[in-house]
Parts: sequence; C-alpha cells; structure tokens
Amino acid sequence: MAKEKMSDIFTGNHSLLITDVVVGDKPVDILIDETGVIAAIGEGIRRQHRDEAEFVIDGNKAIALPGCVNTHTHAAMTLLRGYADDMILQDWLTRKIWPLEAHLTGSDVYWGTRLACLEMIRTGTTAFNDMYFFMEDAARAVEEAGIRAVLSYGFIDLGNAEKRENEYRATENLVKHIRSLNNPRIMPAVGPHAVYTVSPDGLRWCAEFAREEKIRIHIHLAETEKEVTDCTAQHGRRPPALLDECGVLTPLTIAAHCCWLDDAECSLLGKRGVNASHNPASNMKLATGRAMPCAALARAGANVCLGTDGCASNNSLDMFEEVKTAALLQKFFWNDPTVLPAPAALAMANVAGARALGCGTGTLAEGVPADLVLVSSRVACNTPLHHSPSNLVYSCSGAAVETTICNGRVLMLNREIPGDEEVLTRAARAAHDLVRRTSAV
Ligand SMILES: [Zn+2]
Repeated sequence: MAKEKMSDIFTGNHSLLITDVVVGDKPVDILIDETGVIAAIGEGIRRQHRDEAEFVIDGNKAIALPGCVNTHTHAAMTLLRGYADDMILQDWLTRKIWPLEAHLTGSDVYWGTRLACLEMIRTGTTAFNDMYFFMEDAARAVEEAGIRAVLSYGFIDLGNAEKRENEYRATENLVKHIRSLNNPRIMPAVGPHAVYTVSPDGLRWCAEFAREEKIRIHIHLAETEKEVTDCTAQHGRRPPALLDECGVLTPLTIAAHCCWLDDAECSLLGKRGVNASHNPASNMKLATGRAMPCAALARAGANVCLGTDGCASNNSLDMFEEVKTAALLQKFFWNDPTVLPAPAALAMANVAGARALGCGTGTLAEGVPADLVLVSSRVACNTPLHHSPSNLVYSCSGAAVETTICNGRVLMLNREIPGDEEVLTRAARAAHDLVRRTSAV
C-alpha cells in the first residue's frame, strides 16, 4: 500500500519499490532508495521491504531494462524536425539548416531541448550526449526535465584566429557554468565539431583543455568520404591521424559516425580506447555511403555505442528504433546476418553508452544509479516473448516503454509525464516562429 498520493511520485526523489518485473528471464522486484540508487534487486524483495518504500509501482510483468544512452545528438534540432528532408548533404546544410540556425535564440534552444528530453523520456532514454549552441539554455532544460546529459558547445573556428579565441571563451564559459550548477546529472564536455570546421590549433587546444579539466571530448569523425579526401588534401593526412596528432583520441573521446575508417584506423581508435558512436539512421538518410565498421572497431578494443544524431537527420530520438536500424544496417552493409546480434545491439544502447558518458554502468544491479525503464510485456510487439532481446531490438519501438526513471526519480509513470502538453505547445510555437523569422529576411 503506497503511503503517499501517487501524483506526488513525480515531485523528486523518493524511495520506490517496483514489484513484479522481469530482468533477463527472472521475475524480480527492485528497491530504489531516496538517493537514487538501486538498494536491492531480486526475487521476493517486496516481502522484506514493502514498508520501507514511500511508493510502490506495480510492474505488471513489464521488462525492466537499464535506460538507453544516446551518445550523439543535437537535442534542440527537434525544432527542425521535418523542415528539410530528402536533400544532398551540402545543399541541406547550406540552404536549409545553417540559415535557420543563424536565427536561433537561447529560448529556442531551451524549448527544443525540452522537446528532445520529452521524446527521450517517452521512448526510454535516460542520458544523452549533446553538442549545440546556447548550451546554458540546454542545461536549464535538462535540469528541469530530470534526465542526464553531457553537454558541449559546438566549437567551430573555420581556421579563423579571431573566431578561435571566441570559441575558447565560449567553451570555458560553458564548463564553468555547468560546474556552477553542481548537478551530478549534468556534465560538461568539449565539442570540437569536426576536422573540416576546426583548425589543428583549435583541435590541440580542445584536447589540452579537456585533459586539464578531466572532461570528455565530443566530435564528428569520418562521417563522409568527402571529409576524408578534403582532410587529406588540406592536411596531408586522414582525419584519425590528424586527430591523433592533436591529442584528440582518448578514452574520454566520443567520436560520432566513424563510417569511413580503414582497418589501421579501427586499430588506432581501439588502441586509444575511443568511444565510437554509431548513428545508422542519420548515415542512411544522408546517404553517407558506408556503414561504421562496428565489428572491426569492437575487435580492436574501441567502445562501440549508439546515437541518433540530431532530429533534422533522423528524424526521431527513439533509441529502440535506432537499435533496430543499427542491427539491420550492419547486417545489410557487411553482407552477414550474424553481425550485431540482438543482445549485442541492445548492449550498445545501454552498457556501452553508459561507459562512453561515464554515467553509471548501464546495468541493473545493487548499488548502481537507478536509471531504468519498464517496457510493457502486454503489447503486441512483446507477444509472444520467446527471447526478450529479439523482441526489444526487432519488434519494439519506444512506444512500448511505460515508465522511465532517471537517478531514482520517476520521469514517466504508465506513459504519464507531467507538463508534457506545455512543452509540445511551446516547442511547436518556437519552431514556427523560427521559420517565420528566417523567411522574413
Ligand atoms: Zn551530429
């Protein structure tokens, strides 16, 4: 019997007892304490701990999973969802995306990020790795939404020394700001955009600053063939060699895309312990022409994780859809149906993601942060349930997620998220006004 009103469950951290869920093939209960940690997990927990918990959630045989970790996105790009599709990458960027982004305000980024957090919570994601602009506003959105995030300012100097100085200050200011929030859910990172937008001097500064501050580096790497040929023409070396020379490849580096890598480059990333974020939907939509060599990277020792990229090139932040896309793309591109089997694909979305972002273990165990989701087993996509990883990867979308808990706090309960209507209304209005401002020029 719950001792409090159920709607109060959303008000902050409480001790929670989740009964009657399934982990692996076992029926278990989960006890979460008020500090946001899993205090106990196993069969029969409810008998020992029912009276301790402020709230009891009836899991109703749902599948309990660690929350998904989205290791590469640009959250506020939700405002650009469906604004420009089916175009050549360069036209898409120069004619549609960049002109719109030139009109972005801090308020737009706040509402765009709130919308992204809402979508992520609804589809079972509890942490994400973000790179964009007006990141102080993104941090406020993350703080209020209750999710976890690693936030970096998109550092772009285009080889211009004056611009580079501005980017140094913007990066330092964001890190200082995030540290001042003193919120364990929000971590700063350094975000050199890519080798084609940041000079070697800028890259070296980013690597050095990240090392001094002991924070992560978030970068795009080898997304397109053009990036590789341009880099070779300009710098006399391919992107991974250039990044390595500048000190950017480290165990705290998250490199997004990593499509156009040869075997030696996979080995290099493995040797440096880099986290390689696979973004299959974005790569397919923008026709980058090559899939990440996931198996070679994993064999070499890189941590292969998963991301959606921004909503303008996906156009969804649903990690369950992304897991399926990853498994299918890997099989199709490498012409081998045994590549990336369901349990491994799922582990990319939680265990590998948590390791990449340094947020917990991406597992459900005693003593780890309670970042977890409950996926309904009483839905068509989970009926029958011969082998739950197969259902979760190949049949389910995020729509099957019923309940989302981050750091022990309930963010969605039985599909209910308080305040969701306001976020939808305000984000739609911000997107509409942004397009109007852009076309008025
Ligand atoms: Zn990206």
